[in-house]
Amino acid sequence: MYETIIGLEVHVHLKTQTKAFCGCSTEFGQEPNSQTCPVCLGFPGSLPVLNKVAFDYAIKVALALNCRVQEYTKFDRKNYFYPDLPKNYQISQYDLPIAKDGFLDIDLEGKTKHIKIRRAHLEEDAGKLIHQQEESLVDFNRSGMPLLEIVTEPDINSPDEAYAYLTKLKSIIEYLGVSDCDMEKGSLRCDANVSIRKKGAKELGVKTEVKNMNSFKGVKEALGFEIERQIGLLNKGRAIIQETRLWDAKELKTSSMRAKEEAQDYRYFPEPDLTTFVITQEKIEELRESIPELPQEKLLRFIKDYGLSEYDAGILVASRQGADYAEECFKKYPGKDKKPIANWLIGPLLREANTRNCALVDLKVSPEYLTELVNFLENGQISNLTAKSVLTEMVETKKSPAAIIQEKNLVQISDSAGLNDAVEEAIKENAKSVNDYKQGKSNALMFLVGQVMRKTKSRANPQVVQEILKGRLDHA
Ligand SMILES: [Zn+2]
Repeated sequence: MYETIIGLEVHVHLKTQTKAFCGCSTEFGQEPNSQTCPVCLGFPGSLPVLNKVAFDYAIKVALALNCRVQEYTKFDRKNYFYPDLPKNYQISQYDLPIAKDGFLDIDLEGKTKHIKIRRAHLEEDAGKLIHQQEESLVDFNRSGMPLLEIVTEPDINSPDEAYAYLTKLKSIIEYLGVSDCDMEKGSLRCDANVSIRKKGAKELGVKTEVKNMNSFKGVKEALGFEIERQIGLLNKGRAIIQETRLWDAKELKTSSMRAKEEAQDYRYFPEPDLTTFVITQEKIEELRESIPELPQEKLLRFIKDYGLSEYDAGILVASRQGADYAEECFKKYPGKDKKPIANWLIGPLLREANTRNCALVDLKVSPEYLTELVNFLENGQISNLTAKSVLTEMVETKKSPAAIIQEKNLVQISDSAGLNDAVEEAIKENAKSVNDYKQGKSNALMFLVGQVMRKTKSRANPQVVQEILKGRLDHA
């Protein structure tokens, strides 16, 4: 009955050595207020100087998001009073942002959706308030860090779409290498404008802005809550108030923070200490050249070059490091068919990473060792079960698969002579299963195979065991 309209504002900390308008270090986690100077503390008479690297990074992101980079761009003062803002204004961009009119296509349940990007602009971050029992402290180390704000049109219609947009955006920014995108460190923050309206209605409903979402999962939960809350109000015949609401990740609810400001409340005016910047076509082309292969292109190439399914390729290209690792494995793995190695990457290896709560590359399994392991398996020298336990040991000890297999005597037994004793024993000890099998219960055969596997500590080749058993029982 209702439809949801969501617009997202994402703030990305650009990974520069120094702040946006001064030479202070941007290193995270330093002693509070140790990285400040008259410029980022807003002392009278101090003059901002634009960080060229931040400027170039912003243009690169804009290009990767299909934006029109503006020929002229300028900075403005956004005036408001808050204890973490010593100047009482923030240097931001108002009417001439660095880039406009981009888009990002997201894939959801087999459908592609086009999300328009309204603008991307550069601004400086504010300081950080730390509230203790009886006092509030402020750390200005973050004050003046370069932020890129990326604003979508209200084209997002569900929490799942918002999640897909954020995931893809993060992946592109990581590929570009311009931010570490670490939400825990606050390098990537997201605010959402949410409204609902009756299906088919033309006018937008009253929107609320949700802040304080600290993970993509949090964004999804917060949007879900906010949509339900708004529907609940309308169903009771009550009005939605335009306001800013905070997401509480513990209580799983949003609560009112303040009435929403409008742009005019900020009294924007041009920053008189910075000039208007001209971005030449030459500069744009130079930066475009420096953009690496992005996830979408890599995905298509992985499908084409390595014969992967779209699903498998999608998992592998999600992070740039993971994709590079996978590609090295593919190159080292002999033959044209890369499916066996892909299966190990997104199967057992990813499971090892998930249980350790880390990324694929953090397992430090070299591409040489992984391909060697898959070779052992594909050549029938070790069983699938053995291969998995060897992998775990490789992760833990960093030893080569060959060394582990030799040390533990794990080579698969595929010749019937080597298996006969175990087969005979299994038959002797499990008369009931033998009988069941002869009565036509085929499951009983698998039970007997299992017994032989156990007796050989999983070294037996299960197919061969099955053949020998069948031969013995069918003709007995
Ligand atoms: Zn400074």
